[in-house]
Amino acid sequence: MNATIKLYDEDAYRNSFEAEVLSCVPSARHAGAFDLVLDRTLFFPEEGGQTSDTGFLEAAETAEGDATGPAAVTDVAIDAAGVIVHTAARRFEQHTAVRGTIDWAHRYDNMRQHTGEHIFSGLVFRRFGLRNVGFRLASDVTTMDYSGILTAEQAAELETEANARIAADLPVDCRYPSPDELATLSYRSKIEITGPVRIVTIPDTDCCACCAPHVRRTGEVGLLKIIRQEKNKGGTRLTILCGSRALADYRQRQACTEAVSASLSVPCSGIAAAVERLKQDNAQLRFQLSEARTELMDNAVRAVPEEKRDVCLFTGALPEPVLRAAVNSLKAAHPGVCAVFSLLDDASSGCPRWHYILGTAQGDSRIPNRILAEKLHAHGGGSAEMVQGSAEAEEAEIRAVFDLDLAGTSARKEDL
Ligand SMILES: [Zn+2]
Repeated sequence: MNATIKLYDEDAYRNSFEAEVLSCVPSARHAGAFDLVLDRTLFFPEEGGQTSDTGFLEAAETAEGDATGPAAVTDVAIDAAGVIVHTAARRFEQHTAVRGTIDWAHRYDNMRQHTGEHIFSGLVFRRFGLRNVGFRLASDVTTMDYSGILTAEQAAELETEANARIAADLPVDCRYPSPDELATLSYRSKIEITGPVRIVTIPDTDCCACCAPHVRRTGEVGLLKIIRQEKNKGGTRLTILCGSRALADYRQRQACTEAVSASLSVPCSGIAAAVERLKQDNAQLRFQLSEARTELMDNAVRAVPEEKRDVCLFTGALPEPVLRAAVNSLKAAHPGVCAVFSLLDDASSGCPRWHYILGTAQGDSRIPNRILAEKLHAHGGGSAEMVQGSAEAEEAEIRAVFDLDLAGTSARKEDL
């Protein structure tokens, strides 16, 4: 089969076309769908790191009584011979004349992102000699991998320069030079290309082999913003947003910073410092709270009547060593089962979660622990002297189980 005529090469701004169905077979990649080959297409296939165009196909002339309507095109691929395969929702007869319409918003957004990437990668190459070794234009972000390290300052400089090139509204030229002319050109290319090479040129900025649709002038990119920078395989990975994606991101970040600013009653410029102060205050308060709870725990341990055999105490969150010390003090004074339940987090929905430590001076702690597992689905384990675990239950429920089932079990010794 001949290579499909790429209408998007001739005019990236067209969004509908007419073509003839050369073949239509059940899709090998998408169950229930059909793979269509047309003689020509505006649908850009998934290629070179960019997702394919989507849209729909319909019969160019609807026959009387034909109610099949348009079929969604959800995926477009190109094979090594240049044959473009459209995945459509329904079958079309061979030799049917069809009309195709691409999702223009999706296509134009991709064009803006892609031209933005060329501007940036061209400048990276010119300024620092780094090659673009990876490119992915996804539906939300564009990522670019470079062959060496860029510092945050260098990336910021490049971002400024790229936006200056966008503002200069430079022409973007896409064409297939003759082999002779191509031999004289110096251009970036990620792969060795066989057959005609399409060159995309932006004056004083970039010259690169590329098969994708681009905007006519750099001004259409609108804005280029780096939103992430990370190290990647000895090089640098940058994530960028162009055009309306950058605007949407700005809006979201603005809403976020304004919400935090209003909540903390500080200007937007001061929110990072204010959050840092809050974190420090919070750590200080947590420390003080823990100190106070420890004191309360000590008092509660001392306040237990001497004659009491079994003891069960409850507390807010406390570190394990404090709980362990409290259980040891209780064990020294009371011969029965001694337990401390410490609240892990007071979830507003669902049951309170507890961390517990339980010990007994005379018997085997694993016996009451087993009862906790049976009655409260607690998870825990340990030695005869002391066990620890977690349980989800209301305080009253735990008290009832302790009084009815656990108290008195310390005297029992059995083979577990
Ligand atoms: Zn490209």
